[in-house]
Amino acid sequence: MSRLFVISGPSGVGKGTLIAKACEARPDLWLSISTTSRRPRPGEQDGVQYHFVTREEFETGITEGDFLEWAEYAGNYYGTSRPPVLAHLGEGRSVLLEIDLQGARQVRTSHPEAVLIMITPPSTAELAARLRSRATDDEATVERRLGLARHELAAADEFDHVLVNSDIAESSEQLLQLLDS
Ligand code: 5GP
Repeated sequence: MSRLFVISGPSGVGKGTLIAKACEARPDLWLSISTTSRRPRPGEQDGVQYHFVTREEFETGITEGDFLEWAEYAGNYYGTSRPPVLAHLGEGRSVLLEIDLQGARQVRTSHPEAVLIMITPPSTAELAARLRSRATDDEATVERRLGLARHELAAADEFDHVLVNSDIAESSEQLLQLLDS
């Protein structure tokens, strides 16, 4: 049975690593590649981490109803292209969306059967340290992301499952259990 999973959690919480491990362990799972107007970070490639577009191109997508959900996060647009998600679900594959809180809420409304999982850090101090050590964003961006993180963490009870990522191996195992259950 195909299912729609949503994974949310603050930037820097380790979602990317957990999701990569889950996709490796469950090759049947299809991970949606989001579209964003954010600039690529060093090492990011178009069509791999994201489909990178301009703000204008994104806004055309909104007008044309291309997105299953979309949001503005830290000054950039992010959205899930609708057709590939519906196509994969139609083929009987489970789909995983890695999206922010605003997007998770939209999916909750449009697909009430979706399973919403929030990944949280052990503490906000730990999250701050992780964001700073990543060193890809300037201090103002880190501060803005921390503000958003507090807001997102306050919404944890809207999710079906909350996974505290203190240990990657352990959290990875817990995530697989949720995906299989
Ligand atoms: P980043 O810029 O660090 O890659 O992502 C910033 C935030 O945007 C993260 O919380 C990530 O989950 C969220 N995000 C990524 N893709 C999407 C999307 O398609 N829709 C929504 N609503 N959020 C997304």
